[in-house]
Amino acid sequence: MRLVLGDQLSPRIAALRYVDKAQDVILLAEVDAEATYIRHHKKKIAFVFAAMRAFAARLRADGFQVRYVKLDDPLNSGSLRGEISRALLDETFDEVIATEPGEHRLVADMEGWEAAFGMPVEIREDSRFLCTHAAFRSWAQGRTQLRMEFFYRKMREATGLLMDDREPVGGRWNFDAENRKPAKPDLFMPRPPRFDPDAETKVVLQLVSDRFSHHFGDLEPFWFGVTHEHAEVALQHFLREALPSFGDYQDAMLEGEPFLYHSVISMYLNVGLLDARDICQRAEQEYRHGRAPLNAVEGFVRQILGWREYVRGIYWLRGPDYLKSNALGATRDLPWFYWSAETNMSCMRAALQQTKTEAYAHHIQRLMVTGNFALLAGIDPHQVHEWYLAVYADAYEWVEAPNTIGMSQFADGGLLASKPYAASGAYINRMSDHCKGCAFDVKAKAGPTACPFNYLYWDFLARNRAKLSDNPRIAPMYRTLDRMSDERREEIAHDAATFLETP
Ligand code: FAD
Ligand code: SF4
Repeated sequence: MRLVLGDQLSPRIAALRYVDKAQDVILLAEVDAEATYIRHHKKKIAFVFAAMRAFAARLRADGFQVRYVKLDDPLNSGSLRGEISRALLDETFDEVIATEPGEHRLVADMEGWEAAFGMPVEIREDSRFLCTHAAFRSWAQGRTQLRMEFFYRKMREATGLLMDDREPVGGRWNFDAENRKPAKPDLFMPRPPRFDPDAETKVVLQLVSDRFSHHFGDLEPFWFGVTHEHAEVALQHFLREALPSFGDYQDAMLEGEPFLYHSVISMYLNVGLLDARDICQRAEQEYRHGRAPLNAVEGFVRQILGWREYVRGIYWLRGPDYLKSNALGATRDLPWFYWSAETNMSCMRAALQQTKTEAYAHHIQRLMVTGNFALLAGIDPHQVHEWYLAVYADAYEWVEAPNTIGMSQFADGGLLASKPYAASGAYINRMSDHCKGCAFDVKAKAGPTACPFNYLYWDFLARNRAKLSDNPRIAPMYRTLDRMSDERREEIAHDAATFLETP
């Protein structure tokens, strides 16, 4: 029996290696346990189920034997274990072959499968990634700091991507200094392609509407692609239309423009509808053929070859306890407006509202708006982690948890980020047009109309002095804080407490 999970929809997935069309049965199962252990966004559940169905149809068309269990099958046991057991009762198998899952919870469950099923269970390493577990461990071994930039250079050398012989193309590893422009509303914004739901996807939409109406987010309009062909259209569209400006506007935010020049491919890539190496090679070709500048292509390749592989390495290296990290001792509950999007802060409202409608926010919204706010407000990192895992269509624990717990909340004490991604309203004002229409005044430092990011920023530094003031990258901010009068520091603490205590 070959088991394929909902985020493993690639014909080259390890579990399908050397699959025998005559003898082997491929099992795919939509199970309640996976859809509800976190209350995933409705669009995310619909996307995964619809893509699973499309993948199963493709496998059948290619002559494979597929056992597909729909969520509303009356015999559906509701769990992966239950569905494998049921298949073993119905048919004769002598081995179960699976690909490693993307989270510790399922790894722990799989460890008990051999005993439960009374037969060999082979769990194969997921070969969709460019860095193996062993290669990451060997890179990390003996290092006191695990900085992404050095890992990324190693990956460039190992893969030959954006390399001229042994040198990085253009003579530098990183062209970030040329990126980071704020966007202007009159720029041409290439919107990601939208796909009309086919008949089977419409059935899934009805199912999700019936069964998961209490989950977060808007189910419709549903425009995600659900096949490899759709994902390919989305990728090609990005490479031609948006990649050339990707670097310039990577950190920009604009009211009413959820996607800007981002690729919006993470949900396809993370379930196997696209391949990471192929994407990087094709982005490189855009540069080699003179269709996209190096700052854009290097910036984009770094996200996939660097950040994506690096956070995965950290997730598996640190083990399940990483999820409990709380280096700053943050304990506040996640505010309700993360779910309702009802807030007077324009930047937060834009990010939260589009999260609700699209199950998507781009990196800077996740890191410097919703993540930054949670960090400054001292929200329990585990609650923040569960929120990010639930609300985004691309969220799987191996990629979401290090980004949230490490990069965004600094809860791992600086393993992943060399300093907390904490910023006042000035940063958001520089990179976006949100402040113009906001109920708060980004220039005001104190009082009820001042931008909350301003006093929360200083309050965060004051609260965490013992843990952060030795960090050389933020020491200058502590010197500024120390130059403030006692009255000013009291005012900051008062404004922060008043804002955070107000329901
Ligand atoms: P683009 O901006 O076009 O980037 C291209 C690709 O690079 C992405 O599709 C993605 O595959 C990869 N990438 C970029 N940044 C990262 C990163 N930091 N880590 C891993 N891959 C990256 N990404 C997820 O795929 N799933 C998540 O659950 C997730 N949770 C996040 C939570 C927080 C708090 C933060 C700060 C970031 C998170 N990210 C996550 C990373 C990043 O925000 C998304 O990958 C990106 O916004 C997806 O949109 P895009 O496809 O338009 O990406
Ligand atoms: Fe956000 Fe502050 Fe600007 Fe309002 S003023 S949009 S809260 S940064």
